Amino acid sequence: MNDSGFRLIDSADLPWLIPTRAKLLGSDHRHHSLLVSGPPAIGKNLLGLDLATQMLCEQSGEGGACGSCRSCHLVSNSVHPDLHLLIPEVLTEECPPVLLSHAQRYLDSGQPSQKRKRSNSISVDGARLLSESLLETSRLGGRKVALVLAADALNRNAANAMLKVLEEPAGETQFILVTSFPYRLPSTIHSRCIRIDCAAPDVDDALAWLRGRHDTDSESLSTLLVSGLGPITIDELLSNGGVRDISALVTYCMRENPKAPDSLTLAKLCGEVGIDRALRILQTLTLQAVRESVVEGTVAAPQGLFRNLGFCICAFQRLGSARENVGSAVDEQLALEDICAWVCDEYARV
Ligand SMILES: [Zn+2]
Repeated sequence: MNDSGFRLIDSADLPWLIPTRAKLLGSDHRHHSLLVSGPPAIGKNLLGLDLATQMLCEQSGEGGACGSCRSCHLVSNSVHPDLHLLIPEVLTEECPPVLLSHAQRYLDSGQPSQKRKRSNSISVDGARLLSESLLETSRLGGRKVALVLAADALNRNAANAMLKVLEEPAGETQFILVTSFPYRLPSTIHSRCIRIDCAAPDVDDALAWLRGRHDTDSESLSTLLVSGLGPITIDELLSNGGVRDISALVTYCMRENPKAPDSLTLAKLCGEVGIDRALRILQTLTLQAVRESVVEGTVAAPQGLFRNLGFCICAFQRLGSARENVGSAVDEQLALEDICAWVCDEYARV
């Protein structure tokens, strides 16, 4: 499952997005192609959707869409003919039902099955179809808005298929591309967009927001935030279960001066979280340790499994490769045990 941060929460309630939201929603002179980027699971998709809804709204103000006009009703019923939503198929798992039909028209037909997993990328067919639709005149006589979520999922051909409409959009067309990984997008897309960066949430803001929504103590929430999964994903997990496994993994890795980390225990804890998510959490922990050592010039060495600078840099790379390879491994469990054994051996060696 992707940590897309795609739930029905009002982006106006996310304190860390307030400055970007005000900038985006308050501007009358926007570039026709916006690239909204920032860390995963902080609410960028919601912000993109709010912006799209505002642009289509018949009586919008600086605070956003009115929520009551014909256009706003069409968006909330997922039938607005001028809202074009392009997403990778995998995001449909967590796409709110009210948006599914907006996305459906650009997705490959055919139901996913055990043999065919939902695709992680945006297909060239979907991108071509979107480009053709945007050449048509607006159905309601106003703007057309193309919202592309997880835009980094555009493969090269799909990105190429969109270049012309991005460069010279027909009529009053607005593009909003949203991504957590802008560096994965080709430079041809970057050069056609104005980039808007959303700041990472302040820990106190994220903590206060989560505390306002869940009856969970601050210490537990802080442990969860250390995982780097982002407040929106943590909120989702707190509502639907799964936080205990994440807390257990983070706690195991952050124990003070662990004497002898056990690779099978680490692999078991990772397996319970889910392999891709667990490797991402381990990568986040290495990155945080590096940041504490180098960027912030902390005198005391960071605690826990990832405490040696050289080891952390090396582990970050190894974990990244493992994440890329684990999906194609014949035996994912074996691949996981392999990387956990490497982490524990290296920790003992340095
Ligand atoms: Zn409205």
